[in-house]
Amino acid sequence: MWVNANLATMVADEGNSNAYGEIEDAALAVRGDRIAWIGSSADALALAQTQDVGVTDCGGAWLLPGLIDCHTHLVYGGSRVEEFEKRLCGVSYEEIARAGGGIQSTVNATRGATPEALLESATRRAHGLMAEGVTTLEIKSGYGLEVGTERRLLEVARELGRRLPVSVRTTYLGLHALPKEAAADRAGFVGQVSGPWLEALAGAGLIDAVDAFCENIAFSLAETEQFLRAAQRLGLPAHVHAGQLSDMGAAELAARFGALSADHLEYLSAPGATALAAAGTVAVLLPGAYYMLRQTTPPPVPLMRQAGVAMALATDCNPGTSPCTSLLLALNMGCTLFGLTPHEALAGVTRHAAQALGLQADIGTLAIGKRADFALYRIDRPAELCYNLGANPCTGVIYGGVARRFKN
Ligand SMILES: [Zn+2]
Repeated sequence: MWVNANLATMVADEGNSNAYGEIEDAALAVRGDRIAWIGSSADALALAQTQDVGVTDCGGAWLLPGLIDCHTHLVYGGSRVEEFEKRLCGVSYEEIARAGGGIQSTVNATRGATPEALLESATRRAHGLMAEGVTTLEIKSGYGLEVGTERRLLEVARELGRRLPVSVRTTYLGLHALPKEAAADRAGFVGQVSGPWLEALAGAGLIDAVDAFCENIAFSLAETEQFLRAAQRLGLPAHVHAGQLSDMGAAELAARFGALSADHLEYLSAPGATALAAAGTVAVLLPGAYYMLRQTTPPPVPLMRQAGVAMALATDCNPGTSPCTSLLLALNMGCTLFGLTPHEALAGVTRHAAQALGLQADIGTLAIGKRADFALYRIDRPAELCYNLGANPCTGVIYGGVARRFKN
């Protein structure tokens, strides 16, 4: 029994009068790994007199559903810090690319890394997220670009979920970039990704969903569709990197396949937004990449609002465009750079992030029967989680009903 807390249940309230689902001076009881009861602190203490329950005093902290980072590329080798430094010291993109920089450098470093090294660096990054109250994490492959390394990335992601008190969902990002060795045979590469590689990884139980980077610098609509169709035949749900740099109609394609999410969406048309809303596909907004790339066209949040698209927020943790291990920073950026309300931003890392992973029945709100994943914060009101820049007010994390503490 957790008493003397203020709950932000994040249960949907279309009337918006109680936007965070606030219950002040509240208590929450856990049985096994589930939320068993929610009520007032006074009722909880009376109940505790008659039953044998352990009582924890939250000291007036705010208690929220465990945060969900629904879009990361957390497992990779190397880093791109040198490239970052060179660019800021005046070296051109072209020179960096000629010197082997860019995504191919991460692919090379990842292919050369041992599983132990990949696990070690990913664990450090996961700890950063977990210290802020993250209890569920999506991890994409995509830096192998050949089946052996892709398998290793997915295995490391699964291992992370076994070792750490965090739930991990894995995504096979088969179409991320065209590897150097396949430059002369795009169709052959897409065929491998959509055929034998997908079947092998799915057969090994390593994939919860698939993803493709549909963009003029990556893969076309037709190539993306070929991959999504193959995944659909295997019963795998999809995410799509859509509309980051241009509007190719990738959002409409994601909607047509009933994708769980379409991610980025700086470039999105009105019909695209309508299609996403109709399909129940979540728009996952990624302000970290937008910030690092110094983009100037934000996603059309008013259009998505009007169309009724559910919006989530994530770190997009990756070495090239968003080396971010703070979901709280993504909350602030979602508000300051994209104009989300604090309520929308918090729904974006709880209820809507759960929907983006297809887990809304199990996590994302504080409600009876849901998994007892929650986090405690020393704040005056929920919006403070979006307001702070660089502070971490998280004072405790409960994962599956068990209290955990982490070192950052
Ligand atoms: Zn991404």
